[in-house]
Amino acid sequence: MKNYQSMSKEELQSEYDILLSKYNEMKQQGLSLDMSRGKPAPEQLDLAMPMLDILTGNEMMNTENGFDTRNYGILDGIPEAKKLFADMLELKPENILVGGNSSLNMMYDSVARSMSFGVMGSTPWNKLEKVKFLCPVPGYDRHFAICELFGIEMINIPMDNKGPNMDMVEELVANDDSIKGIWCVPKYSNPSGITYSAEVVKRFGALKPKANDFRIYWDNAYVVHDLTETPDELVNIYEECKKNSNEDMVFEFASTSKISFSGAGIAVMGASVDNLNFIRKHLTIQTIGFDKMNQLRHVKYYKDINGIKEHMKKHKEIIAPKFDAVINALNTNIAPYGIATYETPNGGYFISFNTMSGCAKRVGQLCKDAGLVMTPSGATFPYGNDPDDSNIRIAPTYPSIEELNTAMELFCYCVKIATIEKLLK
Ligand code: PLP
Repeated sequence: MKNYQSMSKEELQSEYDILLSKYNEMKQQGLSLDMSRGKPAPEQLDLAMPMLDILTGNEMMNTENGFDTRNYGILDGIPEAKKLFADMLELKPENILVGGNSSLNMMYDSVARSMSFGVMGSTPWNKLEKVKFLCPVPGYDRHFAICELFGIEMINIPMDNKGPNMDMVEELVANDDSIKGIWCVPKYSNPSGITYSAEVVKRFGALKPKANDFRIYWDNAYVVHDLTETPDELVNIYEECKKNSNEDMVFEFASTSKISFSGAGIAVMGASVDNLNFIRKHLTIQTIGFDKMNQLRHVKYYKDINGIKEHMKKHKEIIAPKFDAVINALNTNIAPYGIATYETPNGGYFISFNTMSGCAKRVGQLCKDAGLVMTPSGATFPYGNDPDDSNIRIAPTYPSIEELNTAMELFCYCVKIATIEKLLK
């Protein structure tokens, strides 16, 4: 097998003709496949079904301190849920705010609150001429969508396999007080799958932002979502901030959306007591409280952090083979041709795939025309604009292994076809 870059035009053309006929054969099958959705498969959701039968009898509805979860009251989480999520995020319960069913909602609210009311006494952002966020790329499209909605300018920060380029981050936040935030998915990042190195997290904790209302939006969505026996370790950002007297600088987020039920789990925010006091002042106007029965259900079902970890092993058994199927297909059908790069993640929900420059959109189109839906190319960048037209996010969790094998066969044809078209131009 030859690297495409070293093939002659004639060789490429004959390879192209073969690939195109295989692609057309698959296209005629009328496939309907989808590798775009970072959703758990139904079997994963089945794992948590016993939770729904756990609150039986009136006495089961009370918290450990005797509070009736069926009634109004308790703004920021029942004590045992705070403890459970504090252990998950390696924080103290006093640093935890238990929310509703979506961490994205909590992130949105944090930005919306800052726009209207500022951050711990700072000028509301909507009174400022310009507000900017740093966006490590590729990243999570919904983070970028929040910024876009509020008119917050986004600045791309390149990532490598250790995390964002910290020279850039340090320089920018130290000199520009209109930079108010940075979006981070520090563990098994969406989409790159990498975990920030210890050095990167330490540098985050030691940032010296010019804006005192700058916050690190630390979206730890995949904190317990390991796929291998050698999981990545993430240094505790809050401890690092504290070491530098920076404990107000970070908002941490997580949820059980990919532990129990997606969209019907529990979201949580971790922050300093001063940050949480400020947030609670507004939250108490916004809501009387979140779903405490769901909080109690989760605590009674998982019991403690070890219960969550054991549960996550069952998720791993279901989805690790799916990641293997994708990586095996790429190792066999793409790697030998030297036409793309990808990471093999130790956890999370995605595999990030980089085509040769200028090929991602064409790959997406070829896939779509043959019945395979991929995340739209560009979606992993602010404003939907991948300047290199190269990144494609692969989400292997939802389809069955059989579907994945077919989807990957087609995907690999599409990548090769798009690459040869580019090389022959
Ligand atoms: N954060 C990241 C990085 C995600 O990938 C996702 C879902 O894909 C979410 C947040 C959404 O979380 P939630 O369901 O808690 O709103």
